Amino acid sequence: MARLTLADLADLNAQFEHSDPRDLIRWAKDLFGDRLAALSSMQKTGCAVCHMLSTLDLDIPVLFVDTGVLFPETYAHRDLIAEEYGLTIRTLTPELTMEEQTNQLGVLYLTPEGQAECCRMRKSDPLLAVADQYDAMISSLRRSDGGPRGRTPVLSPDPETNTLRINPLVTMADEELAAYLKDNAIPTNPLHEQGYATIGCNRCTTPVLPGEPKRAGRWRHLGPWSQYCGINPTDMMPPEQLSVDLPEDLIDRVLGRATDFVI
Ligand code: SF4
Repeated sequence: MARLTLADLADLNAQFEHSDPRDLIRWAKDLFGDRLAALSSMQKTGCAVCHMLSTLDLDIPVLFVDTGVLFPETYAHRDLIAEEYGLTIRTLTPELTMEEQTNQLGVLYLTPEGQAECCRMRKSDPLLAVADQYDAMISSLRRSDGGPRGRTPVLSPDPETNTLRINPLVTMADEELAAYLKDNAIPTNPLHEQGYATIGCNRCTTPVLPGEPKRAGRWRHLGPWSQYCGINPTDMMPPEQLSVDLPEDLIDRVLGRATDFVI
């Protein structure tokens, strides 16, 4: 094993900055093969990625984290996307039901500390439970979502899951995303039409008012200090902490370094 840091990826990220998202997905599949998955919560960007995966037909599974307290519309939309695009969607679930968790620990999501713990148990831990099956994950973060996402790199090591995150939509602006969804007649979660700019658990997501930031509807009851769940490392961690340990030959191939073979 060897260490791959965000700094090591600087040249590659500069090279990929304006790459077509499909080319990035192909690049990832060529390198990581069966150890590549996509991560989608079936919001607009995740559905755009699902559409790209279906047109590329590369047999990349989609990981969907089901906290057990998502909106009925979200479950229905996951099933619709799976059927419409013929994708393998792997639903990941927490160890405890929300009822069991509440009986044991109380209603966690009412305080910032409890929210962090609840998101860890219901979102991050289910992903961590399967993470050793993968070396890379395709995410759908975009810089135009603002906040810490404004500095999201195309490629980013995720120390939590020890996978390389690939963000093929990172430079896609709001108008480009809207056009992509429209041009390809991609179905979106009907909650978006009801004022939900982003969609998470039913306990912690509300619509947003005109003029409010996109993420104002997430953890509204906690104020602006808890706007991310932690499942995406670039939302929470400083760049210098972003690193992964991968096989050395895989890192060589990611970085396009020549490998010496002894015959
Ligand atoms: S969004 Fe709310 S309910 Fe969902 S896992 Fe996080 S704290 Fe828990």
